[in-house]
Amino acid sequence: MTASIGHFIQGATTPGKGTRTQDVTNPASGAVTGKVHLAHANDVAQAVAAAQAAFPAWSELPPLRRARILFKFLDLLNQHRDDLARMITAEHGKVFTDAQGEVTRGIEIVEFATGIPQLLKGDFTDQVSTGIDNWTFRQPLGVVAGITPFNFPVMVPMWMFPVALACGNTFVLKPSPLDPSPSLFMAELLQKAGLPDGVFNVVQGDKEAVDALIEHPDVKALSFVGSTPIANYLYERGAHHGKRVQALGGAKNHMVVMPDADLDQAVDALIGSAYGSAGERCMAISVAVLVGDVGDKIMPKLMERTRALKVLDGMNLAAEMGPIVTEAARQRIRGYIDSGVAEGAKLLVDGRQFDGAQAGQGCQGGFWLGGTLFDHVQPEMKIYREEIFGPVLSCVRVPDFGSAVNLINAHEFGNGVSCFTRDGNVAREFSRRIQVGMVGINVPIPVPMAWHGFGGWKRSLFGDMHAYGEEGVRFNTKQKSVMQRWPESIGKGAEFVMPTSK
Ligand code: NAD
Repeated sequence: MTASIGHFIQGATTPGKGTRTQDVTNPASGAVTGKVHLAHANDVAQAVAAAQAAFPAWSELPPLRRARILFKFLDLLNQHRDDLARMITAEHGKVFTDAQGEVTRGIEIVEFATGIPQLLKGDFTDQVSTGIDNWTFRQPLGVVAGITPFNFPVMVPMWMFPVALACGNTFVLKPSPLDPSPSLFMAELLQKAGLPDGVFNVVQGDKEAVDALIEHPDVKALSFVGSTPIANYLYERGAHHGKRVQALGGAKNHMVVMPDADLDQAVDALIGSAYGSAGERCMAISVAVLVGDVGDKIMPKLMERTRALKVLDGMNLAAEMGPIVTEAARQRIRGYIDSGVAEGAKLLVDGRQFDGAQAGQGCQGGFWLGGTLFDHVQPEMKIYREEIFGPVLSCVRVPDFGSAVNLINAHEFGNGVSCFTRDGNVAREFSRRIQVGMVGINVPIPVPMAWHGFGGWKRSLFGDMHAYGEEGVRFNTKQKSVMQRWPESIGKGAEFVMPTSK
């Protein structure tokens, strides 16, 4: 039995009017488990109309009452945490414990968003001039749309919609068609929590749905997370249509290992952050920058640990790494490994040798690759320049700290970075000089907490504001300034000069 996966519009699931569908597969087995309906522009128009109609009442609701609905949603999320995690593993392939972690990081954004009455407090200045007060406050935008990638089907939508809804906006989510089911489950939980129909809608789909959202005049803002070419496209097209856009793109995250670092800790960090979620994380470490003699010292350990990775069906609790999301992605990653070999990098562990039979029963038809380790990668090689988004770790050797910083700063991406060292001054200099948005010191994947906001630099983010945190509140609201005086001051006649404080 394959499931029919539709949209969620005005509080009800619907297959929509579009005639196109796409297979949804379990990456571990390769079995087709569902068919997702791809929205036609009319389906998008229907979802936006529902959101637009729901906006006046929702935005008028006091923030505290919006927060109370989010508290109920939070409770339901906690009750269904493992159901969501299982859905993620079934359609994405990542290991169950990692999927649980993803759900938890999403829940933390909802926890943050429940503080919205405090976050929306404005600024007030008494007596800016005699008898006049001035204050600013923030109001919601209207319909906000979120377009999300396959690699975090729960967490990345939750980077967006809890804050957008808490601010008083209504929302249309367009998830990845590769793992569409969790978005519908979250919509049902929001409904159970008491969210009025039309406030949160889901349209499944591809470019057609995205273009319809970009062009729709009632969509006031677009939050996007995905690859850099699409982020760039969305930013430009969104601006053309007069929308506020934040578009988070791809990454190539480096981890510098200094000679004074605890090398065992560094090896643990590299293995977990390069191969966790099969490298399909925008904060995965894909380049190890080994300073001085570190390369000679840690390479045997990295080889041993990469070979020993437990690559298994994600529902097996012993699994450290699951399959690749699709066969097309697996082929793309294999192509990068081929190119690394052709360009002269030293292939120490070859994940192309791994097949489904080694992953366990029922996995023969799945999309499997083992962990792959390259040494002596050079900056001009394709495997260094481009985002591979798979379980491939490239090691680059550099003579000193300055060369490591220059190498990273010259890269087109600037999402995350990490430095392992025991020297406080090196750590401080690194975090100040590095041209990257999110920095870890002895932390391999420095994903900021819910109240700090998430965002890279350079071609990893198009737009001014980071996702979630206070930047998320700013993105989802517009500031209004009110200047007020009362009758006593009336009767002075018209004033033709710029008002100044008197
Ligand atoms: P993707 O760019 O292929 O897809 C992202 C979204 O855009 C999906 O909803 C997809 O349906 C839609 N889309 C795809 N092609 C489109 C087109 N031509 N026109 C309009 N919309 C289109 O990304 P993906 O493969 O789903 O996810 C992996 C990518 O996302 C990686 O590059 C990864 O680094 C990035 N990512 C970045 C972050 C971050 O915070 N910077 C977080 C997670 C993932």
